[in-house]
Amino acid sequence: MSQIKGWCPDAWHPMAAGDGLLVRVRPMMGRIDGAQLAGLRDAALAYGNGLIDLTSRANLQIRGVSEQGWEPLIRRLIALGLVHADPIMEARRALLVAPDWEAGDDTACIAAQWADRLAEFPDLPAKVGFAIDAGSAPLLTGKAGDFRIEPGAQGGLILRAAGRPTGVAVTRSDAVDALLALAHWFVACGGREAGRMMRHKAALPDWAQGDVATATPILSLRPGQHALGFIYGVPFGQIDAATLAELAPHAIRLTPWRMLIAEGAEGRAIEGLLQDPADPLLRVDACPGQPSCPQASVETRVLARQIAPYVNGRLHISGCAKGCARSAPAALCLTGREGRYDLARHAKAGAPPQRAGLTHSDILAHLGVTDAACL
Ligand code: SF4
Repeated sequence: MSQIKGWCPDAWHPMAAGDGLLVRVRPMMGRIDGAQLAGLRDAALAYGNGLIDLTSRANLQIRGVSEQGWEPLIRRLIALGLVHADPIMEARRALLVAPDWEAGDDTACIAAQWADRLAEFPDLPAKVGFAIDAGSAPLLTGKAGDFRIEPGAQGGLILRAAGRPTGVAVTRSDAVDALLALAHWFVACGGREAGRMMRHKAALPDWAQGDVATATPILSLRPGQHALGFIYGVPFGQIDAATLAELAPHAIRLTPWRMLIAEGAEGRAIEGLLQDPADPLLRVDACPGQPSCPQASVETRVLARQIAPYVNGRLHISGCAKGCARSAPAALCLTGREGRYDLARHAKAGAPPQRAGLTHSDILAHLGVTDAACL
């Protein structure tokens, strides 16, 4: 039976998984420089199992950390500047920035002000976060962020609360004041009990009830050359530490789409990373499954590699009905249940299946997979 956990782990509050503790790292500005990358590799190999997740909030999770390894790992991460030394401040570092920011632009300046004023923010529920997406068009639409700075439809910037279609005009210099005021309002009027801004039905304060729409979003990034460097896809959002460190001496930027930007890089092939925007693995969501997750009753990622080229549209393979890897429907969804797979089309994990109780071989046969043995 799946267990729904109502909290988000951070480095000071790691979560137990089937392969050990998960230690989450939230680099400021979503950026890790070359020296930090090398240090991260060493730390993940010394204290974890060498696997690192890239999450949908553009954070990293070091996997397979032992109880004894957690404390020295935290010390190493603090020394690298990747974790705040104060657990309260670390818990507040829930910020997603548009990863295509450039030095001195609105996203970079507002995010820097936000970081400088972290101590002024209230403690918020663990899943509540901020999004600063202040480029010429929104890039983070649909991604996590309860309190958002976005470009307005008529130019300028807006503050928008998640779940509200419009926002109120702000400027680069007062955007963080507005974020602070809205965060304090959220706490003062029962937002902690609601848990997320989206679920908080209280009317916004008058000053925040703007009617400015967000500008039309642009498409998310794709693997390939980019003005900032080269964008690599990360299959299933998981990378081994040595592969990650191969990107050094380039700094990397984390994105919420299972992609990394290697600053200033050209498209050198790196085993384990995707360069082709048409790669079928970019259309796959598969949680860690067995044996990494104790809730899983099936393996997920070997099967995903085998069948991805045979599936039109999005493929979701979930180790159980919780559906951690994807909350939206997928063209083909396989959900683990009692050691077998339930198959549903245009469905979410756990949806009533069209075919139930399938084995791995049944699925290969159903999709006409003929060359699985070579994968
Ligand atoms: S969906 Fe996957 S990762 Fe999430 S609890 Fe189930 S098996 Fe574990």
